[in-house]
Amino acid sequence: MWRLAARGVDVVGIERQGIGHSFGSSHGTTRLFRVACMEHPGLTAIARKSLGLWTELGERTGETYVRQTGSLNVGTPDSRPVTGARKAAGAATTDLTHDELAERFPQYALAAEDVAVWDPDAGICYAEPTVRAHVAEAERLGATVYPHTMVTGIDVRPDGVTVRTPTTSITAEQVVICTGAWLSKLVPGVSLSPRRTPLFWFQPRDPASEAFRLRNFPAFIWEFADGRGLWGHGSDEDFLVKVGLDGAERERDVDPDELDRYIHPRKDIAELSAAIADQFPGLDPEPVKLMPCMVTDSLDGQFLAGRYGDRVVIAGGDSGHGFKHCAGIGELLAQETTKETPYTDVSFLDPHRF
Ligand SMILES: Cc1cc2nc3c(=O)[nH]c(=O)nc-3n(C[C@H](O)[C@H](O)[C@H](O)COP(=O)(O)OP(=O)(O)OC[C@H]3O[C@@H](n4cnc5c(N)ncnc54)[C@H](O)[C@@H]3O)c2cc1C
Repeated sequence: MWRLAARGVDVVGIERQGIGHSFGSSHGTTRLFRVACMEHPGLTAIARKSLGLWTELGERTGETYVRQTGSLNVGTPDSRPVTGARKAAGAATTDLTHDELAERFPQYALAAEDVAVWDPDAGICYAEPTVRAHVAEAERLGATVYPHTMVTGIDVRPDGVTVRTPTTSITAEQVVICTGAWLSKLVPGVSLSPRRTPLFWFQPRDPASEAFRLRNFPAFIWEFADGRGLWGHGSDEDFLVKVGLDGAERERDVDPDELDRYIHPRKDIAELSAAIADQFPGLDPEPVKLMPCMVTDSLDGQFLAGRYGDRVVIAGGDSGHGFKHCAGIGELLAQETTKETPYTDVSFLDPHRF
């Protein structure tokens, strides 16, 4: 909506909840911001586009949406974080040997084979402030926003699109649908699997320790030999350390309207706490804060973004790594909608690829 409004397009945004709510996938203060993205070499250009747009927006609003403190991709030399980061097109990465990694980051209880790739332009991004800023900027540029309004149906005709809500309907030339875990509900035929994935925060065992401040404990992804992995980052602000576990058993194919929002101490916490006790001995493995959230997986772990029909553009299937790309994806959707040439090759995100 922001990127369309920036082009002078007459645009209306419809959101079922309030702006910056915690019922979807974009809540919690932060997300990892990586540039050397292991998920696909083509994502570097999209992360850099987000960074450019957020920097420009921040200069106008006086807010910070990204803090670039670098990030670590840790694992064995043939692990996905290490090989994937090295393949990222146009990212200025540096390899760290096991000994360099152990010396610079003593917080890690490394396996003998572990090495790392340092992604210097990476860091963290501030999720909720960014969502609010995108919407506020779109409104400032002339967009109309309807919060607390649920889209109940979309009728596509040869001469236009009608978006229905319980109170009104809006007719437009095109519709852009990016409803996260609810995308398949509005776009039948798109195969996505929403997954319950809580957010967790921890504290150092020694509250006076500086070891887990963001400047000393930057964003990381760490894959273990058994295929599981931890990701997270330290903090200079609330001094809470965010850590999550990849590869843990999670409920898949959940109905986002029926998401289990209770926290179950044994099921949700035990495996992550055990991994933290083993890998980061300086952290207290009992979380101090947690919150339910959702990831929406696509069949190949990559987003769906682009044209879906003559009058329909979609984006979704975040697969757990989408926030850092959201402004860059927004720019691509706006380019698709207004029939401009995309700023980068996005064929790997084609919604029809399955
Ligand atoms: C635990 C966790 C950790 C993550 N870590 C990272 C990370 O480190 N780095 C990273 O880049 N990404 C990360 N992600 C992924 C990132 O958070 C998601 O890619 C991103 O938030 C997805 O945004 P979205 O816009 O697709 O979905 P949402 O933010 O859920 O937006 C969809 C919106 O559509 C609205 N909606 C749905 N149906 C309707 C309807 N019928 N009518 C009107 N509105 C509707 C919803 O209310 C919602 O606001 C993580 C995700 C999780 C859960």
